[in-house]
Amino acid sequence: MLHAFNYQGLPARVVFGSGTTQKLAAEVDRLGLSRLLVLSTPQQAALAERVRNLLGSRVVGLFPDATMHTPVEVTERAMEVVSTLKVDGVVAVGGGSTIGLGKAIALRTDLPQIVIPTTYAGSEMTPILGETQSGRKVTQRDPRIQPEVVVYDVDLTLTLPPVMSALSGFNAVAHAAEALYAPDRNPVVSLMAEEGVRAICDALPEVLRNPGDPAARSELLYGAWLCACCLGSTSMGLHHKLCHTLGGLFDLPHAQTHAILLPYALTYNAPAIPDALERLARAMRSDDAIGALMHLEGSCGIPLALRDIGMPKDGVERAVAETMAHPYNNPRPVEAAPLREILSRAWAGSGV
Ligand code: NAD
Repeated sequence: MLHAFNYQGLPARVVFGSGTTQKLAAEVDRLGLSRLLVLSTPQQAALAERVRNLLGSRVVGLFPDATMHTPVEVTERAMEVVSTLKVDGVVAVGGGSTIGLGKAIALRTDLPQIVIPTTYAGSEMTPILGETQSGRKVTQRDPRIQPEVVVYDVDLTLTLPPVMSALSGFNAVAHAAEALYAPDRNPVVSLMAEEGVRAICDALPEVLRNPGDPAARSELLYGAWLCACCLGSTSMGLHHKLCHTLGGLFDLPHAQTHAILLPYALTYNAPAIPDALERLARAMRSDDAIGALMHLEGSCGIPLALRDIGMPKDGVERAVAETMAHPYNNPRPVEAAPLREILSRAWAGSGV
């Protein structure tokens, strides 16, 4: 029997394709904006400059200091620029770090956001913001955080290095996987999840072989968009919470943590999620979802052990203690002994 559900569509407008940044000016004019601030990381400052050139006098400033995990002190500096320049909207061009800064500004001002994602992390489709202050990352949901317009331009993803593309792609797969067993899952989001995983797993090997292939990049970005919708529409479980805990405790890189942990978190939940695993397996053209995921990850040249991305060995016990201290919803109850087992395996990269 079908699981009872509520369905609420995400309010964002999505423009997808190749060369779509050429449509940016029209999107800005649709929103009636004329004093934009363009946000980027320092590494993508040249791309922000290109966006400024496309938008001409609609842009009143650039802020190229976006930083991973959205530190509040960076947001406060950006807020001064927003106020001095009388900004009426933000354009965030980049990955989750840059999008996070745009969201942090929108939370404080309710300014409209136009987002141009250049990774597969998925922040653009969610009303969720994680901000860091004094070493603590706090996550919140608020309708003001949801970007109004998302412009996916496949051309801007061609420069994402292959290993980062794989890591970011698995970050996206994690959203879809957990959406398939979320307590608030629904048939539309489950369709998006299955198709998103299919697209990403089909495209990744080709992107690794030929990172400049527009067709494979397009398929990968399409899959990432679907997975991002899953993240924005449902409540995540053990996997996302563990990534958050590990990231906060040991300052681990975001996408790497997701990629390494996902097969282990799915193994933990496996006894409670047969339907989700069946759909994931179908999406990966396999009869064993977790095995297929480990196989694909193993072929991508990405780190496969938490110890290889900076987690200390005694971190397993600290992560178990922190997780048990803050219980949350998960299809299989979270218990210390089996949690310790999968975290130890993920730390060593010893397989499920
Ligand atoms: P990122 O934004 O930190 O980008 C990583 C690096 O890659 C940066 O230096 C960036 O400039 C560079 N880069 C990005 N796109 C590129 C491209 N196409 N070519 C070359 N270089 C490129 O990484 P991310 O994984 O996208 O984002 C991680 C952050 O996003 C974390 O802080 C995470 O918490 C947050 N996030 C939030 C949500 C949400 O819903 N709130 C969802 C996913 C991720």
